[in-house]
Amino acid sequence: MTSLARRLVVYFVFLAVVPLFAGFLGFTAVIERSEQNRVDEGLQAGLRATLASYENELVSAQKSAERLARSSAFQRAVVRHDRSVLAAYIADLPGLRVQSGSLHIGKAYPYAGERLVQFVGSNKPGGELIASVPLDPAGLRRFENLAGISSDEKLLLAQGTRVFNPKTGAGARANLNDDEIGRVRLAGKDYRVLVSHAVSARGSVGFALVTPQARVSNAVFRLEMRVLLVLLGFLVIMGTIAFFEGKVIVRSVGELARAARAIARGSLQERVPVRGHDEFASLAVAFNEMTEQLQARLKELEQERGRLREATLRFSEGLGVSHDAVQLLRVVVESAVEATQATGGVITGPHGERFIAGEPEKGKEQSEWSLRAGRENLGTLVLSGDHFNEEELEMVALLCGHAAVALDNARLHRIVERQALVDGLTGLANRRRSESALDEEIVRASRLGGELTLAILDIDHFKDVNDRYGHAAGDSVLKELALVLNHSLREIDTAGRWGGEEFALILPGTDTAGGARLCERIRLTLADRRIPIEDGTTVTVTASFGVAGFVRTGSRERLLAAADEALYRAKRGGRNRVELAD
Ligand code: GH3
Ligand code: MG
Ligand code: MG
Repeated sequence: MTSLARRLVVYFVFLAVVPLFAGFLGFTAVIERSEQNRVDEGLQAGLRATLASYENELVSAQKSAERLARSSAFQRAVVRHDRSVLAAYIADLPGLRVQSGSLHIGKAYPYAGERLVQFVGSNKPGGELIASVPLDPAGLRRFENLAGISSDEKLLLAQGTRVFNPKTGAGARANLNDDEIGRVRLAGKDYRVLVSHAVSARGSVGFALVTPQARVSNAVFRLEMRVLLVLLGFLVIMGTIAFFEGKVIVRSVGELARAARAIARGSLQERVPVRGHDEFASLAVAFNEMTEQLQARLKELEQERGRLREATLRFSEGLGVSHDAVQLLRVVVESAVEATQATGGVITGPHGERFIAGEPEKGKEQSEWSLRAGRENLGTLVLSGDHFNEEELEMVALLCGHAAVALDNARLHRIVERQALVDGLTGLANRRRSESALDEEIVRASRLGGELTLAILDIDHFKDVNDRYGHAAGDSVLKELALVLNHSLREIDTAGRWGGEEFALILPGTDTAGGARLCERIRLTLADRRIPIEDGTTVTVTASFGVAGFVRTGSRERLLAAADEALYRAKRGGRNRVELAD
């Protein structure tokens, strides 16, 4: 039995059994009292009726005696003392007695009510007629019948406080209170007794009406049994109702507890059965609604998680594959919009480039984020949406952090890439970049035709500059030459540092004559330039040029060899000059 069921049983006992039992106790006290009253009233009525019958008999006996006393025949028989005639008279009227002088005819009873009728003879003294009603067993039985005394009651005689049966002579002393029903124990049994005043002519004997004490207790017992049966029946009905109600309550609570435990274990499809329309039913309905809400919320969360996972995946893929800042910025704004379910977003790159995802103008709320790596500002993201919750903002923060790292990596990558292709000192294309530019132009010229000229220039006696002014001064000269070259070349031309103080000029769409003219201009410009060095003085340098044109059927090696040969000739010819290949 569960503790709830135990408690319900305790409540039932306190609310039903205890009051019923208390009521029963009170009720038995009342019925005992009322039953006793009923019996006592029966005794009183019986005794009253007995006394009335007795008085009636006494009066009628007296009248018979008076009639007889007036009879002259009777009077003559008395005068003559004619015993036989008198005996005949008296035999007709039992209980009658004649006294006249020495004459005594008729029986005198020990206990009897008596009336005296005196008579006077015609000339002689008369005598007395005594009418008596004997209180013998026969008389008592007669009065019982006349007074309608019930079979439970018995008429006896009382003398003082002694109650006795005139038939057997057996008796006992009664316990009598004034005007109250007394108690007497006769032949080992208890009786209730009501005693009348003395009614006999002699011996002060009265009536005693008795009834067994057990009559009261038997009646009370029978009544009690009946009440007890009714109460037991009532208790059984109440108990049955309470049992089934209690069972419903215990079952409903049990079902709720089971469902709650199931939900705690994670099986959200669990439902509580709804029965009827009581509070338990509404509790079950509320519980089921709560579970449905929970299930729906969980589903939403799972979808949300899936969406986020996808966005994150795409985002990290996007970040991983590219060092292209433009592509990265686009991925960042798209992923941020997707992850936060924003209506749209705008990202602005460090050079003012803008990328838009969704419809930023539709959002009511805006959230701005800057993408920073150290002191470097790599962009600004502005998201627009209806509302951003804490989780979404955290997500964007995380996303921006990763994006900033990726953008910074891309920036560094660009620098490294540039460093791989650009000469660090002069900022011109390095040897690798120059060679590939030359290859590209050779391929283009071979395929499409058109002119291509290569010039190689070398600073004259550069070693002397180093030796005389120091290596830093040499560097300054190299940088100054790069400026001159950049200034002199067109957009489509390439000037590259071929090695040391040797430079290559790749001039597509230019014939050898044009190339030579350009080199001549450069030669003159350089020769005229006073190049400032660290100690505040200036130096001047010259350079020698070898110019060669690409022949359609030729190769890179032959073009280079031709330019080299021309340069060699320029050096040999006295330097500071431009030589054309043969
Ligand atoms: P020529 O007229 O025959 O070309 O004589 P030159 O002295 O210019 O030629 P050489 O090959 O004897 O010397 C080249 C010098 O250039 C040697 C080297 O120290 C110097 N040099 C090469 N690269 C650099 C550089 O990056 N900076 C400096 N300061 N000097 C360099
Ligand atoms: Mg050289
Ligand atoms: Mg040189």
